[in-house]
Amino acid sequence: MKLFACTACGAPLQFEDAACPQCAARLGYDPAAGRLLAVALDGEVWRVQGEPGGRAYLFCANAAYGACTWLLPAEGAGESRFCHACRHNHVIPDLTQDSNLGRWRKLEAAKKRLFYTLLALGLPLTRRPEDPKGLAFDFLADPPAPGAPGVMTGHDNGLVTIAVAEADDSEREARRSAMGEPYRTLLGHLRHEVGHYYWTKLVEEAGALDAFRALFGDERTDYGAALQRHYSEGPPADWATRQVSAYASAHAWEDWAETFAHYLHMVDTLETAGAFGLRLKPRHPAAEDLSTSVPFDPHHEPELARLVDAWAPLTFAVNALNRSMGQPDLYPFTLAPAAIEKLAFVHARVRAARGA
Ligand SMILES: [Zn+2]
Ligand SMILES: [Zn+2]
Ligand SMILES: [Zn+2]
Repeated sequence: MKLFACTACGAPLQFEDAACPQCAARLGYDPAAGRLLAVALDGEVWRVQGEPGGRAYLFCANAAYGACTWLLPAEGAGESRFCHACRHNHVIPDLTQDSNLGRWRKLEAAKKRLFYTLLALGLPLTRRPEDPKGLAFDFLADPPAPGAPGVMTGHDNGLVTIAVAEADDSEREARRSAMGEPYRTLLGHLRHEVGHYYWTKLVEEAGALDAFRALFGDERTDYGAALQRHYSEGPPADWATRQVSAYASAHAWEDWAETFAHYLHMVDTLETAGAFGLRLKPRHPAAEDLSTSVPFDPHHEPELARLVDAWAPLTFAVNALNRSMGQPDLYPFTLAPAAIEKLAFVHARVRAARGA
């Protein structure tokens, strides 16, 4: 993520800010420009402060719920008035239920981070009904009936289902602990599930199945049986020599989705480190290898090796910072050479899609 500054007063901003903490200007994110703008109401439209007669914007319809800060151009805005990210929503939770609004806001905030990276990478974003496998989101709350089966987070032909219950920290932590996972976040869920959509776009529809199978294995093996085996027997003891996570060992599709999610973690976190000019120069003479900086844009860097070379020392150092605060590691994973090869495949597919 870039570092943003208020266009009215210059105060540094976080991507999620809806108002400037210094000058109180209303803020809106223009995804086409990749800028967080200080805007003021001008009749029925919004314009950048200090630019009278400049471009006219509307806020996404979900801004009315405090669930979106994104702008869309007023010109050509359809009836629905949803932003680039919210127009992929298919079902949102029932907002007449008190607890759902707060949960949905957390999901939307994570989804905006996801879309920021997808747009910066220039990845395709198709919608239904034009594309029957277009990207859509169902944010579903568990049925209130006692004993009824809960919503399962997952993916089906472009439709991503997210269990809204995961937005409760205690619930998500309970599930993380029960599954024995080192990392479970809303952003991680979203990055994983859209990974399945991008398998269709970047592998299947792009004619890269043979290369995919050579690295990840054959995705035609029974998916349901593979997941059942994973949950009953657990991962193979040596999964870490091949996969980014234990869950990735369940099936070739899950391996791709986990690898794709890690790729987005890397790209976003490296951009953030670069935006702040973070440089590591360890003071221990034996730790020279941990020297690094990010003087490149990870969205446009041709060589995956450059990302990986910066990623390993950066995550080692930030893990140390987290431990100083009594927090779990920022990045509780290590990347084996075979997993890095899979990341290189994702990187190549992403670059090919941008070129196309
Ligand atoms: Zn300001
Ligand atoms: Zn929106
Ligand atoms: Zn999956």
